[in-house]
Amino acid sequence: MKTMKNFKFLTVAVFASVLTIVSCSKEDEPVPATIVVAAPVETCTDHFDYENPNNWSHVCTTNNTPNECGSTYRQSPIDIVGAVADATLPILSPIYSSSSTDIVNNGHTIQFNYNGAASDFTFGGETYSLLQFHFHASSEHTFGGTHQALEGHLVHASPSGSLAVIAVFFELGAANPFLDQFTANLPSHAGDTYVDVNLNYAPEDLFPVNQSYYNYNGSLTTPPCSDIVNWIVMEHTSTASQAQLDAFTTLLHSNYRPVQPLSGRTIKHKI
Ligand SMILES: [Zn+2]
Repeated sequence: MKTMKNFKFLTVAVFASVLTIVSCSKEDEPVPATIVVAAPVETCTDHFDYENPNNWSHVCTTNNTPNECGSTYRQSPIDIVGAVADATLPILSPIYSSSSTDIVNNGHTIQFNYNGAASDFTFGGETYSLLQFHFHASSEHTFGGTHQALEGHLVHASPSGSLAVIAVFFELGAANPFLDQFTANLPSHAGDTYVDVNLNYAPEDLFPVNQSYYNYNGSLTTPPCSDIVNWIVMEHTSTASQAQLDAFTTLLHSNYRPVQPLSGRTIKHKI
């Protein structure tokens, strides 16, 4: 009954519209047979930069991965403040074999592709393997609103596809022996690489001596900003000389995403 009423109303409304069009048209102007209203077209771009992080929600994705850069839910980086001590968190004990040197400047960061024979650590019931590490300057995570000079991200993946990223920090001070191996040969232009099969390094040398850390659930800090990252943020900062920091910062062009809302998340602290 209700359907029939609606149908009648629709019929009357359509008829009235046709009458309106006919009565408004002049005899010497043809009446368009159909009026086509263009539907809004979803466009996306492959380009993103750090000048306009608010535009990252328009960056194209692959394999039907949703772009989550516009979300306020579980995004990274964040300001580390108000962390809650959690004695149940594991002691950090990644096991890495050494890797030869394979560095790429991908236009957004300086990335070291890891090619060691084996690497893994377990965390929260998942086993993660190191894929690569790369750098941001200034740091992406802040501590009570303060940036560090340089932040390294060691990106690990589990067989189920989740990621664990260990964040390490560098501030101005004594020269850093790990960074010293590479600062003279960082690839300076997008697309440049530096490969040295005879220069082997140990990834654990990136870590500070004191391995207390913060832990929270967040996202990639570049598009598509997927919220699939188990973040392990080292509490203590290593040092690097001014020349070492300059070698990175002149190539990284302020490649840090602004901090994102905590949105009710708990930051856990392993002391
Ligand atoms: Zn990163």
